[in-house]
Amino acid sequence: MSDTIRLHPAVDHGLPAASPSFSGGTLVCRCSDRPVKVRVSTQVAHDHACGCTKCWKPDGAIFSLVAVVPQDKLEVAENGDKLAVVDTTAAIRRYACTACGVHMYGRIENQKHPFYGLDFVHPELFQENGWAPPEFAAFVSSVIESGVSPDRMSGIRARLRELNLEPYDCLSPPLMDAIATHTAKAAGVTPR
Ligand SMILES: [Zn+2]
Ligand SMILES: [Zn+2]
Repeated sequence: MSDTIRLHPAVDHGLPAASPSFSGGTLVCRCSDRPVKVRVSTQVAHDHACGCTKCWKPDGAIFSLVAVVPQDKLEVAENGDKLAVVDTTAAIRRYACTACGVHMYGRIENQKHPFYGLDFVHPELFQENGWAPPEFAAFVSSVIESGVSPDRMSGIRARLRELNLEPYDCLSPPLMDAIATHTAKAAGVTPR
């Protein structure tokens, strides 16, 4: 089928394989001079392709790849002076390299946010292989907002399914359930 649809360079030729021994690595920005390095000391979770307009993606990619790690498993290791928050009003504060523009990690400061405690990372920035591959595609319809023609959507969804990345127009059902569970708990709702 249509393998000419370019979703993201890390998945276009098939999903990369996770290594059972991968326990973290170093995310590196695209600068040749003084690259920003961020150390992650765990495997990533909930890796997915994201079609939203906020996530960083490489040139030409329709989707980003984004995953989460516990905040305390991530630390800026080198050249953190080059990092700045892209949008200080966003729920996720995305720290980008001011020289090459790559987003190195996103952090949630609002303790009431359902995903508080997790940092968002783009696993293709690991200099090591073996990170967990994406499991689904989120915010698929949003790629139209970044300029993809609506008439390409059925082909894009078909290609995502071919790669076993079930397309959702929000997050996956387990993550949507986690958000709703958080909201219900905050509202004092008793599950029945
Ligand atoms: Zn950089
Ligand atoms: Zn996104």
